[in-house]
Amino acid sequence: MAEDYYSILGVAKTATAEEIKKAYRKLAHKHHPDKGQGGDPEKFKQASEAYQVLSNAETRGQYDQFGTTFEQARRQGYGGFSAKGGPASGWDFSDFMRGFDFGDFSAGGGSAFGGEDAFDIFSGIFGGQATGRRPRRARGVDLEMELDITFDEAVFGVAKKIKLEKKDKCSACEGSGARPGSKIVTCARCHGTGQIRTHRRTILGQIAQVSVCDQCDGSGKVAEEACQECDGSGIVRKEKTLEVKIPAGVDNGTRIRISNEGEAGYKGSSPGDLYLRLNVAPHPEFKREGQDIYLEIPISFYQAALGTTIEVPTIDGRVSLKIPAGTQSGKVFRLKNKGVVKVNGSSRGEQYVTANVVTPAKLTKKEKELFKQLAEENGETVDVDESLWSKFTS
Ligand SMILES: [Zn+2]
Ligand SMILES: [Zn+2]
Repeated sequence: MAEDYYSILGVAKTATAEEIKKAYRKLAHKHHPDKGQGGDPEKFKQASEAYQVLSNAETRGQYDQFGTTFEQARRQGYGGFSAKGGPASGWDFSDFMRGFDFGDFSAGGGSAFGGEDAFDIFSGIFGGQATGRRPRRARGVDLEMELDITFDEAVFGVAKKIKLEKKDKCSACEGSGARPGSKIVTCARCHGTGQIRTHRRTILGQIAQVSVCDQCDGSGKVAEEACQECDGSGIVRKEKTLEVKIPAGVDNGTRIRISNEGEAGYKGSSPGDLYLRLNVAPHPEFKREGQDIYLEIPISFYQAALGTTIEVPTIDGRVSLKIPAGTQSGKVFRLKNKGVVKVNGSSRGEQYVTANVVTPAKLTKKEKELFKQLAEENGETVDVDESLWSKFTS
């Protein structure tokens, strides 16, 4: 049995259309599969399904009246609600997803849920109650590729040339799909409306189904002659070289969005975006965690005991570090603001330096003698220390 659409959206049965829309937007934003780890395609689908039915006064009324019977009726071929596919194939949400525009969302910025498009698409494909607005064409597909960069490139930023092969805008027809100079005429299939309207008889009465005209792709106009370079699609496959700017401070796994560099849209509709997922090579010495850098340095027994000033490497070059007398092995020193800069920001992390005291291993005879003297000076016995063992016998 299907879950109640109202509870899926978390609204009351008396909710206004505005409340339903708001609740849906919130859920769609939360669960959208493009969000990566945070997304939940199943919940997104559920919410979309609920919204489709409840956002339309007619279908909401039917749902309120018939409840789950309505749900079953739909599955049995209540075709007015299906974007594509037969009754048995259920719902195809791929077009809706493409219709969303999350803007700079994945780059971590802003409140980018600008997706009026999604709602236009809903109303466009929705049975009977089409708003009269022309359905929009699907935009081009987003692409994602991996890019290898070095530790330093991630820390300081870099301009990279990348090559990719993709479906790009046909330059002969500027993506229109029309042969240059060809006359634009009204689409014969839909008579310029961009929509094909069919009527179906269902157990709930006659339902009007509106779909996008496949001849003109909803524009209502077609070229008299198709472009020969792209067979009228406006798209050709080509190799492209892009220069991309990787900002300072990016990290392993960072995803960067390059707007409009995904695949071209059909017949000149807007292109998708290109996402670059960064693989940052590790540094032989520095370890990085977020904006902070960690480094281990060996210091000698003598340096630790007597204190000294040593030079340590940082991403900015060498700096002096004072080792106070009596430093224990494992002591961590902080170099303020010597870490990595925040992406698109100015704050920097820290560098942490762990001093590892190296105990002298191979001693000459003279050195041994000196150490013994040192120990005695300190009141310690270097040979077997009976006082230690006395602690273990009771
Ligand atoms: Zn062309
Ligand atoms: Zn048409």
